[in-house]
Amino acid sequence: MNKTMSESIKESIKEPIKEPMIDRKGFEPGAVGDRKAHDSEKLRYIDAHIHLEQYGEQERSLIFHDIAEGIPISMLLAVSMNLPSCQRTRELYRRYPHIVRPAYGFHPEQPLPSEDELAELLAWMEQTVHEAAAVGEIGLPYYMRTEVEQAGQAFYLQPYIDLLERFIAFAAKHNKPVVLHAVYEDADLVLDLLERYKIEHAHFHWFKGSEKTVERMIGLGYYISITPDISYEEEIRRLAARYPLELMMAETDGPWPFEGAYDGRMTHPLMVADVVRHIAGIKSVAVEEAAAQVYGNTCTFYRLQRQASG
Ligand SMILES: [Zn+2]
Repeated sequence: MNKTMSESIKESIKEPIKEPMIDRKGFEPGAVGDRKAHDSEKLRYIDAHIHLEQYGEQERSLIFHDIAEGIPISMLLAVSMNLPSCQRTRELYRRYPHIVRPAYGFHPEQPLPSEDELAELLAWMEQTVHEAAAVGEIGLPYYMRTEVEQAGQAFYLQPYIDLLERFIAFAAKHNKPVVLHAVYEDADLVLDLLERYKIEHAHFHWFKGSEKTVERMIGLGYYISITPDISYEEEIRRLAARYPLELMMAETDGPWPFEGAYDGRMTHPLMVADVVRHIAGIKSVAVEEAAAQVYGNTCTFYRLQRQASG
């Protein structure tokens, strides 16, 4: 290759974008937060949960282009869904080793793997465990279960609990943090498992749940992350008010799309700067203070090397 990656990314974005779903507005300064304002404040951000491999090639190129151009995003915690997804996440990690931190696992909101598929995935995870920042995304299928139950059918949760236990045991064996998809009453089942395996580092991404569950999670020192829906969801704003800032991270769960001001826009990691601004407002602290705390939390939790500001 006789040109730099940055040059080839620049060239690739000269091409008009063909996918009608992509909205260029999301990339203009100010559209996902004022880029200049962030630069002058020397704040840094980490997207603590993103499905990077699920973006289209052109969308992903734009994200890395923006990072190369100096938006204040230091790192991306890239989670995986299953073995092919893990392999794609790994490719991205190898291509962008200074930005991408990979997590490998099996997302619960999908049909169960066969025993052979699970064995293959766990063997692959053993081989790559040295590079994994965490085990994830793992958890319980709340949305799939409630949909099936609302249709009047029975849903057998136990096989999913058993599957989750395999991954929690794996994390305990390798002393890795876990990235959890576990909301409402499912979170209590997950907390039981985490306690049983003495897991100290658990990150409940996009968490929603009862006050009682929240108190239990805080007591165990577990982390949550807040998504851009903090700008329009009262439930999330209340959670952000209650949860200690010291246990909070910011994420996009991209490419998942958001509503409100983000309606119709591609989910971009820089949206976490908006998330932190909302957290600062709710906590009545300066944006700089919230940004430094959330950045530090993410580095501590995922054992990431802090980057100098600016
Ligand atoms: Zn996710």
